[in-house]
Amino acid sequence: MQYTVPHYYKRFRCIAGECPDTCCAGWQIQIDPPALRKYRRVKGPLGSRLRNEIDWKAGCFRQYDGRCAFLNEKELCDLYLEGGGEESFCRTCRTYPKHIEEFEGLREISLSLSCPMAAELILNCEEPVRFLHAEDEKEDKPYEDFDFFLFTKLEDARRLILRILQGRSHSIRLRAAVSLALAHDLQQRIDRNALFDADSLFERYSAPGVWSWFESRLALLEQEEGRAERRLRAENALFSIFDRLEVLRDDWKPYLDSARMVLKNAPALTEDAERSFSELFTDNMTEQLLVYFVFTYFCGAVYNRNAYGKMKFSFAGMILVRELVRAEWLRNPRITKEAILRTACRYAREVEHSDKNKVCMEQLLDSEKHFRLENLFSLL
Ligand code: SF4
Repeated sequence: MQYTVPHYYKRFRCIAGECPDTCCAGWQIQIDPPALRKYRRVKGPLGSRLRNEIDWKAGCFRQYDGRCAFLNEKELCDLYLEGGGEESFCRTCRTYPKHIEEFEGLREISLSLSCPMAAELILNCEEPVRFLHAEDEKEDKPYEDFDFFLFTKLEDARRLILRILQGRSHSIRLRAAVSLALAHDLQQRIDRNALFDADSLFERYSAPGVWSWFESRLALLEQEEGRAERRLRAENALFSIFDRLEVLRDDWKPYLDSARMVLKNAPALTEDAERSFSELFTDNMTEQLLVYFVFTYFCGAVYNRNAYGKMKFSFAGMILVRELVRAEWLRNPRITKEAILRTACRYAREVEHSDKNKVCMEQLLDSEKHFRLENLFSLL
């Protein structure tokens, strides 16, 4: 089996009771079948508690006020304390905040942005992220219908997209636009069953001329009449996606409504104000967010053949986090990096902690009416 992790992966340390948030509240913790069998066999007081505090039909821990039944008032896990440490955990609790994407013969492991300590590692990373590879003797089960040819092309495309996103001699706006366009063009080849042509596409996007070509394309869009309206429409459409997603935490809806209100009523920013916002929400953070989403989700397109959808999902994640931060900054221009980390975690908890939300968001982003390439460019 092969494994890939981002280079900061090993630096992660859980701060448990010191954590400003907790991973044991605000989402349903699903218990894997072997852990459920193990919990059924536990005897004594812990055994009775487990029998009462597990919803056996749904296969998850019961929650009270959105908190796991085993999370005590010191924000520590009673199951961990009374059940003998990590051994007592189910798979979800044992692995979080690791996020694992599985492919035949390969596990890609990242840290979830929803954990504050992981968010700090991801967003505060100054150098371009490197990806480390390892291999062991474990055999993987064969996957039915795994399309290796498509997967190889997705891996090649992702490698190139990550290189483009990390091309720091160019503006992050240009890097994001080029990587979106590459995914768009790759999708056309996937849809036409013309993946044999993908290599020439990658060559085109690797050529130095690609930068000046997109620079002029962005400059033309910039001069277009109605540019501001296009941006506003695209931004509204992006935020409207939230109206269709399931809400995981009670405080999310009021927070979101108030952020949308602030953004709606905000006057157009002066150049100085834009500059001051970009000193807070830096190009580096934008890069790290995009790299995080692309690494985590892009190759998952092997299961639904929607590479452009994965790229749009990544792009939308970065824009939405940035705009939520902007709303906080408009309310209080003295906010610090901490507010950005908090906002990114909050977004990740609502969107990434729900498979239903991820699928729904990707499907809604498919709308060419609202999210064609030029509309997405206008958000940069
Ligand atoms: S959210 Fe992260 S740092 Fe906080 S308790 Fe969970 S794993 Fe630890």
